[in-house]
Amino acid sequence: MDNERLRQVPSVDAVLAAMREVSSDIPHPAALEAARRAVAELRESVVAGEAAPALEAVAQRAQELADRGRQPSLRRVINASGVILQTNLGRAPLSARAVAAMQEVALGYSNLEYDLEVGVRGSRHDHVRELLHKATGAEDGLVVNNNAAALFMVLQVFARGLEVVVSRGQAVEIGGGFRIPDVLRQSGAKLVEVGTTNRTYARDYAEVCSLETAAILRVHASNFKIVGFATEPSTGELAEVARAANVLLIDDLGSGCLVDTTRYGLVREPTVQESIAKGADLALFSGDKLLGGPQCGVIAGKAELVEELRQHPLARALRVDKLTIAALNATLASYVDGREAEEIPVWRMVGTDLEQIRVRAEAWVEAVGGRGRVVEATSMVGGGSLPGEGVRTWCAAIEVTDADRLAHLLRANDPPIAGRVQDGRLLMDPRTVEPGDDPIVAEGLVHGLSKLGEKAEN
Ligand SMILES: *Cc1c(COP(=O)(O)O)cnc(C)c1O
Repeated sequence: MDNERLRQVPSVDAVLAAMREVSSDIPHPAALEAARRAVAELRESVVAGEAAPALEAVAQRAQELADRGRQPSLRRVINASGVILQTNLGRAPLSARAVAAMQEVALGYSNLEYDLEVGVRGSRHDHVRELLHKATGAEDGLVVNNNAAALFMVLQVFARGLEVVVSRGQAVEIGGGFRIPDVLRQSGAKLVEVGTTNRTYARDYAEVCSLETAAILRVHASNFKIVGFATEPSTGELAEVARAANVLLIDDLGSGCLVDTTRYGLVREPTVQESIAKGADLALFSGDKLLGGPQCGVIAGKAELVEELRQHPLARALRVDKLTIAALNATLASYVDGREAEEIPVWRMVGTDLEQIRVRAEAWVEAVGGRGRVVEATSMVGGGSLPGEGVRTWCAAIEVTDADRLAHLLRANDPPIAGRVQDGRLLMDPRTVEPGDDPIVAEGLVHGLSKLGEKAEN
């Protein structure tokens, strides 16, 4: 009985031939694997009692499997969540200038470690020093894989076996299990906590500094904020204490902000320039947070300290590749040219005109034929920068009975679209979407709604 029915299942060769009639651009190994899987699926369903479909339908299923199997694991996603530095979605999008610089050195050879003047071996670290100096005012700088690596390296090189003083309010977990006390321990430094969770004074630091102390470490609290009865000494005050005690002041800024955030209507975020000017010996920051560049960690500060880091074996272990150097330099150049507001996506998004956002949200609502409406909401900066800090925005709020299911359908779109479910509605924020992608979002919404069985009422 089973054998009789299984005879209706086409052979893998027949499915392959049928696939090739529709499209010939799938490489043979992928097509073969997909045809085998489609036939295996079909055998199972036939054995379970279902009728065998026509050959074309089996070939179509194999085609689908092949297409899905050939999709890269890491894909572009349209971010309509309104979180600008969304760590899960790759943090900062790069500027066109940074991408062009990466392409230029990626497609061929470069002078990564070659001194073109003299024709001898050069250092990859030399490419970033000048721009880092211009952008931050620091005497010198070194770039490593990320800011976590930067902090680990600095502690390991300057504080191993010695004490590092940290305020109780700053012994934080940044996220992804990155905890300041653990990083200190791993690097071989001894944590000395001072003050209380909410209030720490300069004298608290001064009292514990001894010959065993290597550094005072200031840590940006990043993803949380203590409000109300709270005090932390300024960088200038800490620099004075550090100078008097003959210890280093290390400032882990987290974000690497180079601009005055109040110009964008945000609260003040400490800048790298201020940290350096107020006397931090080393300022550490990420490349892909508010800086708006590639993933990396920058160590900027005193020339003799940076030189010691550059000579250390960890500099080799944590070094960045040519693409990162190209993208970071292009990003820094935007700031040096005073063009970050136009060129760097993070700042372009923060600064997008509210009226333009409303018009775009309206177009999405119109596309879904009144299944939603335009509502006022808040875009978040995210990425552990400016905790809780938002920018007023307009969203298309899509009103369906199952917003989670619609969000799921949008994630299955090609390209995937990420929205934000809030109060049982799906909020789509144009601020974090490149305007050129607006039609893709509109189509994705219409398609998702029709799949939900709640057809857009056009
Ligand atoms: C984000 C952050 C880090 C880690 O930076 P990565 O570049 O993600 O490794 C370290 N310190 C602070 C204060 C941060 O905000």
